[in-house]
Amino acid sequence: MNIYEALQKYFHFQSFRPGQEEVIHSVLKGKHTMAMLPTGTGKSLCYQLPGYLLQGTVLIVSPLISLMQDQVEQMRMMGEKKVVAINSFLSANERYQILKSLHQYKFIYISPEMLSIPAVLEYCKKVSISLFVIDEAHCISQWGYDFRPDYLRLGEIRKQLGAPTSLALTATATEEVRKDIVQLLELPAVEECIFSVDRPNISMVVHRVQNYEEKIKEMRWLVKKLEKPGIIYFSSKKVCEEMVHILKEDGLLNTAAYHGGMEQEQRMLIQQQFLFDELDIICATSAFGMGINKTNIRFVLHFHMPQSLESYLQEIGRAGRDGSKSIAILLDSPGDIQLPTQLMENELPSDYQIDIYVDNLNQPSASNGLELTDTQKRFLEFYLPSKVPTRQQVEQIKQIRDERLQYKQVKIAQMDKWIKSN
Ligand code: ADP
Ligand code: MG
Repeated sequence: MNIYEALQKYFHFQSFRPGQEEVIHSVLKGKHTMAMLPTGTGKSLCYQLPGYLLQGTVLIVSPLISLMQDQVEQMRMMGEKKVVAINSFLSANERYQILKSLHQYKFIYISPEMLSIPAVLEYCKKVSISLFVIDEAHCISQWGYDFRPDYLRLGEIRKQLGAPTSLALTATATEEVRKDIVQLLELPAVEECIFSVDRPNISMVVHRVQNYEEKIKEMRWLVKKLEKPGIIYFSSKKVCEEMVHILKEDGLLNTAAYHGGMEQEQRMLIQQQFLFDELDIICATSAFGMGINKTNIRFVLHFHMPQSLESYLQEIGRAGRDGSKSIAILLDSPGDIQLPTQLMENELPSDYQIDIYVDNLNQPSASNGLELTDTQKRFLEFYLPSKVPTRQQVEQIKQIRDERLQYKQVKIAQMDKWIKSN
């Protein structure tokens, strides 16, 4: 069977979208491949189709549970039974049952956390892997806007799995991030398939207002007027909740919040309702949307400015996947750059927090109450695992933090410049 026959037979599509064919050819030749294709192009097909033509199993590392569930459901609906997702959503017993019969599956979706568990990795090693896929691969780079320390182990894990042919997929990655991906995955040579991230059907506009009150007015007015469904992005969970309240009072009852502070189950429910058009408007933080496959989103509105142009493009890329006209509006008011700057600083531990953390490692019994955000905790746990670090190591970590802050500051400045020039 050739790839065109497979496209018809398994997916019922008439033709490939730009980029898909190139990626699939490269993968089928056994080349390690780095593919950058716009959101909504159909990156999943780039590993699903080869999966049918290759002997063995496709292992897909995916950063989010909702994303995995979505893919698995889609494949099952298309009649594929040999597909499974392994993540923290499974009970221990369910997970064990699946792991015991892992060789039965053709497509295995797995979270990086799960894959890092030695017992789980042992089961995966027994499977003959035809293709190792890293979805949303920008998560591997500390320069990526969604950096996930768990992704850093994938190079080592890949080796332990017998260094199978690998495919890294992303929608937005700077050259720097792409280099990082290849290096961290320890890929000897890669075929790069880079396709433009232009989305001509999305118009982008900036609306300028004088202050916060005006911004709220503008949002209410726009949301009433715009064709739905749509997403409104916020940088603050609190503001996000407040605006849901206001919009409901305006009579927009099919509005709901989605943010990292909500229970996983609640978030999945909201996402499903949105997917099935039971909700018109989602007020969300950046926790919402990665990989979500809803084609008819008509507007993406940014109440706050994102932390980088890459995240902005990723977020507005969720609009208009069906190719129909869509709009991305960013609301800008004087001084808006302060919020992302402050948020960025809260993402990483201060000198003081690092010192207290190290003290606590030294003397676990006398532990000091140290308040940390999730991202600060992740950073510290990653760079300072249990063992007591030397002074030099602590200095190094502070340096890493400073570099990261500088880099993010540059990204915010770029975003700000883009807003001012639009
Ligand atoms: P991405 O991961 O690039 O954001 P997905 O893999 O989730 O995109 O695919 C987006 C949508 O495009 C899916 O509904 C998928 O079925 C559809 N799709 C993929 N390839 C094709 C194709 N060649 N022709 C038509 N539709 C396609
Ligand atoms: Mg995807």
